[in-house]
Amino acid sequence: MTVRTHVVIIGGGPAGLTAGIYTSRLGLDTILIEKATLGGQVAISPFIENYPGFVSIPGPELTKRFIEHAETMGVQIKVPETVIDLELKGEVKKVYTDKNTYEADAVIITTGASRRKLNVPGEKEFAGKGVSYCAVCDGAFFKGKTVAVVGGGNTAVSEALHLTQLVRKLYIVHRRDDLRAEVALKQRLLDSPNVVPLWNTIVEAIKGDTVVRKLVLRDLKKDEVFEIDVDGVFVAIGYAPNSQLAAKAGVLVDEKGYIIVNRKQETNIKGVYAAGDVTGGVMQIGVAVGEAIVAAMSAFEHVTGGWYAKKKALKAVKIDFEKLKTKEKAIEEKEKKSLFKFKL
Ligand code: NDP
Repeated sequence: MTVRTHVVIIGGGPAGLTAGIYTSRLGLDTILIEKATLGGQVAISPFIENYPGFVSIPGPELTKRFIEHAETMGVQIKVPETVIDLELKGEVKKVYTDKNTYEADAVIITTGASRRKLNVPGEKEFAGKGVSYCAVCDGAFFKGKTVAVVGGGNTAVSEALHLTQLVRKLYIVHRRDDLRAEVALKQRLLDSPNVVPLWNTIVEAIKGDTVVRKLVLRDLKKDEVFEIDVDGVFVAIGYAPNSQLAAKAGVLVDEKGYIIVNRKQETNIKGVYAAGDVTGGVMQIGVAVGEAIVAAMSAFEHVTGGWYAKKKALKAVKIDFEKLKTKEKAIEEKEKKSLFKFKL
């Protein structure tokens, strides 16, 4: 089926959902396409403590709020649906998915970034059998067990903090002698009684039988190889941008693959915008949200002077405030019962 719309947003993380809230509220017909899970990295973050307005909120809860907000504003969310090709250079942009073809005046790319891999022997073999990239998704499988978290940034430390509540012992394996994560997070982790830091250490291999049993590590200072017994390993060593399709369609990316944008979040192609982690820079929810707002406003400017505006008057968004209140109440109730309660 071919669907004509004002704006197509590719990617349903905080940037995509925010862009949708704005374009929809501005009266543009908006279709958001997400291939896997709405919320992106936030949906799998154990907790968020630096998004204004929430002292501490589990990532899945914040995600729910973003989704409710976008749906209430009228964003048509297509999930799961995978974009397989893009034609962006003409006036009418074409977005081909595994289910439909979308034609739009503007496209906003918010495809985020994916977890980097260690690329060591055993990592692929034991993926899902002890090797994980998501503590929220898989942490419960390791209750009372021994795990290692690899990495030293905010992701590694927040995932480790989540896991400390579940596991018996947690190794934090980092290639330097200090964590680069925020001080508040770092201190809480290092103060946890079941955490053993392994500084100046890298992973050389992951070993096991049907599941992970051991990590082969190298102490970089002593230049010695040693092994530790673990039941699981959580890899949290940063992200790589999901920009391949956009780059193939002619969108300019930098040497690391991040989409190049200007201050209006415009790419090198007219009518094509990008926001959030796929553009690199400071990867924070607040930044993604801010960039998405700019992208949406730029797209609005572009579209309202474009083909679709001449054909169809923009609709005013009608908000059902009663429905919204009921939804908010349901979220509050769920939050009270939430499994993710963290001590501040
Ligand atoms: P970062 O790039 O910040 O950190 C990656 C970590 O992995 C670094 O400590 C790095 O080591 C290490 N590393 C990289 N490659 C390897 C490798 N091959 N082997 C071993 N170690 C490796 O990524 P994050 O995922 O932690 O964070 C990404 C962005 O998201 C950041 O901007 C972060 O602040 C943000 N974020 C914010 C959160 C929050 O605010 N609550 C939560 C999670 C993420 P080295 O230090 O030596 O480079």
